Amino acid sequence: MGLLVVALTGCTAPASGTPSAAPTVPGTPSASATAGSGSRVSASSSSPAPTRAAASASGFDLEQHSVDDPRSIWVVVDKRRPLRPKSWVPQDLVQPDVPHTNVPRLRKPAAAALERMVAAAKRDGVGVTSLSAYRAYTVQKSIYERNLRSLGRAATERLTARPGYSEHQTGLADDLGDASGRCGIATCFATTPAGKWLAANAWRYGWILRYPKGQQAVTGIQWEPWHFRYVGTALSKHMHRTDQPLLERVFGLPASPDYR
Ligand SMILES: [Zn+2]
Repeated sequence: MGLLVVALTGCTAPASGTPSAAPTVPGTPSASATAGSGSRVSASSSSPAPTRAAASASGFDLEQHSVDDPRSIWVVVDKRRPLRPKSWVPQDLVQPDVPHTNVPRLRKPAAAALERMVAAAKRDGVGVTSLSAYRAYTVQKSIYERNLRSLGRAATERLTARPGYSEHQTGLADDLGDASGRCGIATCFATTPAGKWLAANAWRYGWILRYPKGQQAVTGIQWEPWHFRYVGTALSKHMHRTDQPLLERVFGLPASPDYR
């Protein structure tokens, strides 16, 4: 998965006017008023320090879970933060009972939350399908190596996460599709009923859109309206409330535009 070439969206701002460039603590008044999105300014200069301060500033405890431990539902994986160890395998993978194309496996809490979310969408008349959930290190490694051979290094690096660097390996991420089958793993997914419903409602069920539009300077990944990440409702609601869609920003972690 993730083999699709999508156009770089550059400085396109998310509809909500997200404070993407704000290096400040999320939830502070200044964070919502600063700089246009897409700016790389200070992206890598913010230190990974402010969790305690952030917690007190926003009234939200950002240290409830680790961002480093691969077992944590808040683990942050990006191009600067591989899973440690890179070959880590979750111990509580289960199969969520949701429509799917490939048999999905997710960690238990993510699977339960996905079932709740898909059921809620269905009640609203929207069909959501799981396309690609957990991917093992060994699977990612073979995809990466196959692409290296067929596409070359530059294209592979652009399209495929290195083994140990894919959020899918956490067991907390799922590429979701529309029941119609249209726009699977494509940016036009955002225009489908499922894409629209998930963009508006995923946060209610503990899921976030991990790679928003125009945030590649921070996430290292182009806009992927289909890729959702489970973080639990406490954090997803905090992120919604503070209008801060990026895990790196929430936790004061360095931006991750590329591999070190
Ligand atoms: Zn994905």
